[in-house]
Amino acid sequence: MPSPPQELPEKAFVSHAPGYWGGQLIDPSDWNDANWQLRHRINSLEKLEAHLELSSEERAGVLLSGSKLAMAITPHYFNLIEADNPDCPIRRQVIPRIEETLHDPVEMDDPCGEDGRMPVPGLVHRYPDRVLLLVTDRCAAYCRYCTRSRVVSGAGQQELHTDLEAAFSYLERHTEVRDVLLSGGDPLLFSDAKLDAILTRLRSIKHLEFLRIGSRVPIFLPQRITPQLCQMLARHHPLWISIHTNHPRELTTEVRSGLEMLANHGIPLGNQSVLLRGVNDDAEVMKSLVHKLLMCRVRPYYLYQCDLIRGSSHLRCSVSKGIEIIEQLRGHTTGYAVPQFVIDAPGGGGKVPINPQYLLQRDEQRTLIRNFEGRRFEVAEPTALPLIHD
Ligand SMILES: *Cc1c(COP(=O)(O)O)cnc(C)c1O
Ligand code: SF4
Repeated sequence: MPSPPQELPEKAFVSHAPGYWGGQLIDPSDWNDANWQLRHRINSLEKLEAHLELSSEERAGVLLSGSKLAMAITPHYFNLIEADNPDCPIRRQVIPRIEETLHDPVEMDDPCGEDGRMPVPGLVHRYPDRVLLLVTDRCAAYCRYCTRSRVVSGAGQQELHTDLEAAFSYLERHTEVRDVLLSGGDPLLFSDAKLDAILTRLRSIKHLEFLRIGSRVPIFLPQRITPQLCQMLARHHPLWISIHTNHPRELTTEVRSGLEMLANHGIPLGNQSVLLRGVNDDAEVMKSLVHKLLMCRVRPYYLYQCDLIRGSSHLRCSVSKGIEIIEQLRGHTTGYAVPQFVIDAPGGGGKVPINPQYLLQRDEQRTLIRNFEGRRFEVAEPTALPLIHD
């Protein structure tokens, strides 16, 4: 028998509650309260240094983040950081570094060209039949590579001035739109009542078939996923949710419970990951992530090449790394576990799928392909000549 492969510690679902906070055991009813988590976010250098020894690169990054993308980290998410590991993949995602002030000339403030495709403020209409509605500029915590950091968190130069009434009336006039994606910022930071009102208004527009929400709250703030929230969301079906998780350690038992609760209310779940240097640019890490997602009934949807957002070069990988990771998943594991690798075309062309090259050659008679092991196969086209019986 071959020995089992070395297991990553991240493979297991680990609990992070009841949490210790500031060296003290916190009452579980506080820890499990989303508002307590939000009130106790780490959002200043002073609070951060009370919990963690910073490197000089991080300290300088935190000081400069106030004029760019704010820092905020929920206690739940902060507890996932390995304090003694300067390269911890959780740490790299949420603690600013001085490299954020480096400017690569290919980087942009609006790398996906969204501002130019807003017929009304906050509504991006790029594709023929679906729109992206940016309902808020706030998140539970802030990702240092956020593609919308020009507006998200309220610290940057630009402000988000979404006009919901104008967006609703645009959608009423545009009968070709059948799919509305609520994003931001994070829509699940709204109260149940406020989100219910938005979803109810959208549901009053009869040609809208499909609603979805993009949210990282199930990862940053799993305490927000309550039975009341799920029951409200289930009144607006068909409603899907795309979560955003990048590393298997983010999938704790608390996160899994929240995802199960959403799934039990009939909400199909997808995941979007961003390929990040030092976080998930490794096939084994990614495999562990997608396997844990399937166990939480979440279908890996997209793996994004990190957008050319200003100040993200220290987190970006080469395109070939993404292709290599997909190549090591496809065929080697469950098909449902393999996300589509995409690049959001710089300047604004939408998502473009990028795949390993399985198609070797093609002409009118035949197609030459290879499989996941590299073996070659020829597929003949149907012959144009009349066939003869055996
Ligand atoms: C990503 C995105 C969508 C949704 O795209 P899907 O491929 O359907 O998930 C819609 N509008 C905009 C502007 C987007 O960036
Ligand atoms: S949760 Fe999404 S919108 Fe918010 S900071 Fe992270 S990537 Fe940006």
